[in-house]
Amino acid sequence: MFAEILTVGDELLTGNTVDSNSAFIARRLTERGYWVRRKTTVGDDVEEIKKVIREILDRKPEVLIISGGLGPTHDDVTMLAVAEALNRELVLCEECLERIREFYRELYEKGYIDDPELNEGRKKMAYLPEGAEPLKNTEGAAPGAYIEHVGVKIFVLPGMPREMKAMLEKEVLPRLGERKFIQRKLLAEITDESKLAPLLIEALERFDVRIHSSPKGFGRYIGIIIFGESEGEIERAKAFLEEKGIRFEEGW
Ligand code: ATP
Ligand code: MG
Repeated sequence: MFAEILTVGDELLTGNTVDSNSAFIARRLTERGYWVRRKTTVGDDVEEIKKVIREILDRKPEVLIISGGLGPTHDDVTMLAVAEALNRELVLCEECLERIREFYRELYEKGYIDDPELNEGRKKMAYLPEGAEPLKNTEGAAPGAYIEHVGVKIFVLPGMPREMKAMLEKEVLPRLGERKFIQRKLLAEITDESKLAPLLIEALERFDVRIHSSPKGFGRYIGIIIFGESEGEIERAKAFLEEKGIRFEEGW
């Protein structure tokens, strides 16, 4: 099962905002057993977003998660770009419009804004690509969208980390099924990753696990993460490596 992540925003390209959203999404997808093969970032530009979405769809991931650019301002163009990339129209989602209306009415009643009316920018957020299922935003105004297209499950989420996280947990992950991956972090007492490499390849062939490795602790250790669907399989892979002479410490 492979997945891709696309984050959108000029501020990510200028370095003014660190792209923490893609790391968060990647972690959650990995826990679900998805292999995140690529993360891509583009600016708030319809043509760029369209182009990259079409490239991603050509690679046929099972899941594509897009984050950023759903707000009311002129530079928030992600939904339009998604619609155009899929050759679909942007259509008004009535229930989204109602929710947006309520959202601003509540903000007005609490005294946070001085105008509760639906202006053009606010209305814009209620337009989704034709055939999309709206995703509830419990933390903000802009709804997300879920679209199945050429066998790819596409989720479009807001950029604000609080809104993105809530929508990912409540609306996206429940649509991706129940499968869970467990990860176990170990420190292997070996200084040379190249000596570990053939053993890891053997372990990958024998067991239903994935293994990532990276040097840790000034040449004393190699950090490895074993991913698997069951504790038992992870334990068997670890025991196999121990038999081959690798000593492990837990965690890092
Ligand atoms: P809004 O209604 O706030 O405009 P939006 O969906 O349009 O929502 P963006 O305009 O893309 O979101 O981003 C809003 C803010 O969220 C950005 O200024 C930035 O601080 C933060 N943000 C956006 N993308 C990311 C990201 N990938 N990682 C971390 N923070 C991000
Ligand atoms: Mg915005």
